[in-house]
Amino acid sequence: MNVDLHSHSTISDGVLTPQEVAARAHANGVQLWALTDHDETSGLALAREAARAHDMAFIPGVEISVTWAQHTVHILGLGIDESNEHLNAGLADIRVGRTVRAKEMANRFEQLGIPGAYEGALPYAANPALISRTHFARFLVENGYCANMQAVFEKYLGDGKPVSVPMHWSTLEQAVDWITGAGGRAIVAHPGRYDYTPLQFGAFFSQFKDIGGAGIEVVTGSHRPDQYAEYAQVARHYGFLASCGSDFHSPKEGKLDLGGVPALPADLTPVWHDWV
Ligand code: AMP
Ligand code: MN
Ligand code: MN
Ligand code: MN
Repeated sequence: MNVDLHSHSTISDGVLTPQEVAARAHANGVQLWALTDHDETSGLALAREAARAHDMAFIPGVEISVTWAQHTVHILGLGIDESNEHLNAGLADIRVGRTVRAKEMANRFEQLGIPGAYEGALPYAANPALISRTHFARFLVENGYCANMQAVFEKYLGDGKPVSVPMHWSTLEQAVDWITGAGGRAIVAHPGRYDYTPLQFGAFFSQFKDIGGAGIEVVTGSHRPDQYAEYAQVARHYGFLASCGSDFHSPKEGKLDLGGVPALPADLTPVWHDWV
């Protein structure tokens, strides 16, 4: 089965509307699809309707920004009830602060010789409440400051780089609590992207498991193929369910397209094992 449980629309930092993401997923052969916009659930009703029109199974999702040990991690909530008030109140709290941060990022860009970055990034953010580093990166690439998105993150926006403004997102406990309280499964998104020591990774996975985390992404557009094997081993070690997704944002960005996700190792229990 073709499964893609991680994708973004214009509700957060993707470039296609929820309906366009659904259409592209279907055209690319996806049979089980989740829309997982950052910190917001308002695209899920449109996504569900579009998926139904394509006769494609749909899982409502969200990707929650969390701060753990001074670094940002992303926790996917899959199979959530998007009308859950506790979840939506928590997500609304996380969104507060993005505008202030974006203006501070623009100040730093200006000091580095790139003026007008806030006004420049804003038109890329269809949903201004979700203005993110991705929108700034698109502005810099399309105006010739950097060759591609990756270069922007390496030079300016990545954690610890000159324009990365630290944020206090939600705690790990809050994110897991909101997700499980809304009937969903909490999944660590792209664990291979986090800059933790082995000791911190151990503490992080143990704590996540203890507080009710269900699984991790093993195959994602954010992992290199050697990391598929590495995180498959982590899933076995902790007894985590395994998930997979392209983390699609744009036809022009990212390593994997919708529906182009390699299969999970056969011995792992997929997060969707009892959903289909
Ligand atoms: P924010 O939520 O504003 O901190 O922005 C985070 C988003 O930036 C992620 O969801 C990705 O879409 C994007 N991002 C983070 N790191 C990279 C990277 N190295 N290359 C491209 N995009 C990235
Ligand atoms: Mn993103
Ligand atoms: Mn992410
Ligand atoms: Mn994502």
